[in-house]
Amino acid sequence: MKSISRRALSLYAIILLFLVGCGILFYNLVSNSSEWAMNRVNKHLYSSGTLATAGDITDINDVILATSENGQRVYNESKNVRMATLHTVGDSAGFIASGIQTSFKDELTGYTLVDGVYNLKRYGKGNDVKLTLNSKICAAAYKALGDKKGTVGVMNYKTGELVCIVSTPTYDIKNKPDDITTDSSGKYDGIYMNRFFSGLYTPGSTFKVITAACAIENIPDLYSRTFECDGKILIGEGYVICNDTHGKIDFETALNKSCNCAFAKLADELGGEKLTATAERLGFNTEKLIVSNKITCAKSKLNLSESTSLDIGWAGIGQYTTLINPCQMLTIISAIANGGGANTPYLVSEITNPEGEVIFTEKTRGLGEYFDYSVAQSLDNLLRSNVVNQYGDWYFPNLNMCGKTGTAEISDDEDAKPNALFVGYSQNEETPFAIIVVVENTTSAIKSAVPVASAVMKEINAQY
Ligand SMILES: [Zn+2]
Repeated sequence: MKSISRRALSLYAIILLFLVGCGILFYNLVSNSSEWAMNRVNKHLYSSGTLATAGDITDINDVILATSENGQRVYNESKNVRMATLHTVGDSAGFIASGIQTSFKDELTGYTLVDGVYNLKRYGKGNDVKLTLNSKICAAAYKALGDKKGTVGVMNYKTGELVCIVSTPTYDIKNKPDDITTDSSGKYDGIYMNRFFSGLYTPGSTFKVITAACAIENIPDLYSRTFECDGKILIGEGYVICNDTHGKIDFETALNKSCNCAFAKLADELGGEKLTATAERLGFNTEKLIVSNKITCAKSKLNLSESTSLDIGWAGIGQYTTLINPCQMLTIISAIANGGGANTPYLVSEITNPEGEVIFTEKTRGLGEYFDYSVAQSLDNLLRSNVVNQYGDWYFPNLNMCGKTGTAEISDDEDAKPNALFVGYSQNEETPFAIIVVVENTTSAIKSAVPVASAVMKEINAQY
């Protein structure tokens, strides 16, 4: 009896295991069916391991960025446009993970869970994806960056549409360099990464915009205060060094001159908790931004949990361990321009099936009130004052530009070159665009990032 019941028990166990196995197999089949059908051995879609027959990718003005001809993927005829849009369009082999050709491959090939790739077989093509990008603005941004590594992003702050994304270094997808994998000079460092979505940078003085927001929210007599700058300030156990000796200045002048003494003092007074609360409301440390439901941005970081007063002083001027993601920072600056309300950035305008029906349209989606209206107004005035009184309106003719520069030290090595940043936007109704520029290993922001922003914003003014 004993052995029979033991045998029955084993049999039940085997049956149970079999059922569990079936369940796992079924689950995998459903959850990975897209992966399986899209596997590179599927000759309907891929030719020699690359996406061969898929829908078009166009910019907002229907300029072709990628299409399929005779079973081959072909790209825009202009080398500048190809170089400028490489990271957004992506490659057909999937090296650039956030590229549309990888992140939207199901849509481009018309794949669905129910029909598989039936549409592709029936129509000989997939769906067309129209982006919010303007390829002319992208080409201007790429030209302005030149041979520098970095990124430029431009967003319509009223809608969240991304009209320009450029990441360098880049390459011409039509003539991919042979030495990308073997080069040791560093010229191709991070070449497959879209720095706009995946990059994390020390913000430098661009972070003073966030410190300023926190100060406006928490210090009632801020505007009647004066700050003393003799080139350095003692905060806790050490000194924060200023870029100059600014003397006795008010809050607005402190931001105009980007005085480290004033902002380190404000950060010390505000303390880690308040600074962190403001930054986290703006997306730091919390949710990652997801663009067009598919592209996940790197998370911006501010960690002051075990910081000394001196650390908090340095954090208040954008140094210490603080890191910003360019897309996140652009979203924050856009919220200021938009009166405080943030919009989710997006990149895909619409998707059209082979019969010409629009099957998806992306719309403006609010991301929350990043700033009270009155705080946004105060920041708007301050950022406009920076351009008028410090950088010079001649960089941005007829644009009513607002902005803040940052020259971020990224190493204690004295020979190391800083990263230069600029964030800003035009106040004009007809050009509601915000911009972020990052130029790596360069000179001061005013000499490197501002001229890039100037070139891109002038092109925008010419286009819109
Ligand atoms: Zn100073």
